[in-house]
Amino acid sequence: PPAAREREQVARMAKVTMAEIRKLGVIGAGQMGNGIAHVAAQSGLNVVMLDVAEDALKKAVATVTKNMDRQVQKGTLAAVDRDAALARITTTTDYAAFGDCDLVIEAATEREDIKVRIFGALTPHLKAEAFVATNTSSIPITRLAVSTDRPGRFVGMHFFNPVPMMKLVEVIRGLATEDATVQAVAALAERMGKTVAYAADYPAFIVNRILLPMINEACFALHEGVGDVASIDAGMKLGCNHPMGPLELADFIGLDTCLAVLRVLQEGMGDPKYRPSPLLAKYVEAGWLGRKTGRGFYDYSATPPK
Ligand code: NAD
Repeated sequence: PPAAREREQVARMAKVTMAEIRKLGVIGAGQMGNGIAHVAAQSGLNVVMLDVAEDALKKAVATVTKNMDRQVQKGTLAAVDRDAALARITTTTDYAAFGDCDLVIEAATEREDIKVRIFGALTPHLKAEAFVATNTSSIPITRLAVSTDRPGRFVGMHFFNPVPMMKLVEVIRGLATEDATVQAVAALAERMGKTVAYAADYPAFIVNRILLPMINEACFALHEGVGDVASIDAGMKLGCNHPMGPLELADFIGLDTCLAVLRVLQEGMGDPKYRPSPLLAKYVEAGWLGRKTGRGFYDYSATPPK
């Protein structure tokens, strides 16, 4: 029947539109940017990666190469596919290289002024139909969208660290984000082997909105002497089947990052239930930021950490 044929045609066209993301731009070649470039190139996309510093780009390519080599050693990636994926990644410091990108994902330093400046420099070079996504963990998508010339084609695409390992992408729609934009980036995330969770544009989205209050509660429990570090982590690992205890996880994320997300929640929601634990704030003041400084709730100078 004609209606069914029409539906089929629409479905086919939708697929064609979604498959159009062939060339991806990535801005920021740090932890997240190189992970996104890695997985995208491995999924068959051409990727151009931009950073302010040539050094950061060199380091990013070296990291992707090392991580892909490890996959080859483990037998999860064929050497020939690694070579093809690496050949699909190019680097640049010039926004003109984004002229033929179908989507650009911004994964630069988590500062609103930096991101706004990036979008100002980026958008004049883009083709009209290109999508722009941000990997921000905490800045409102709707507000960032306004600093582009295309709020309808702007969306949050929140990957998790380390990108090649973590299966989730939160897709966050700003107030102006169009359905076609959400569909296009969700299809891309799936092509990259990820599962999508759809979030509205509220502080910290879904995962951090739920995770950080749990970590904060663990800090309050420690502070009040409900349990020590080992008991709190063992409790949540063995009692809830979490792969890591909340304090170990906080050290892994970075206590400064945890505190920053809690402040975003506290300010954005205006609810005192998000007030950061004073103990967490004190650790950050002491420079005990977790794994990255060698000390947090655990001391990483010992093996295994104490
Ligand atoms: P990072 O510090 O590892 O990397 C940031 C990169 O951005 C650096 O290479 C830096 O040189 C580059 N940069 C800074 N200013 C720039 C500019 N003007 N133009 C181009 N590049 C610039 O940070 P990261 O951990 O990769 O975080 C990047 C983004 O991803 C942030 O928005 C962060 O909130 C988000 N994020 C981080 C995590 C995480 O666990 N690390 C998880 C999800 C999302």
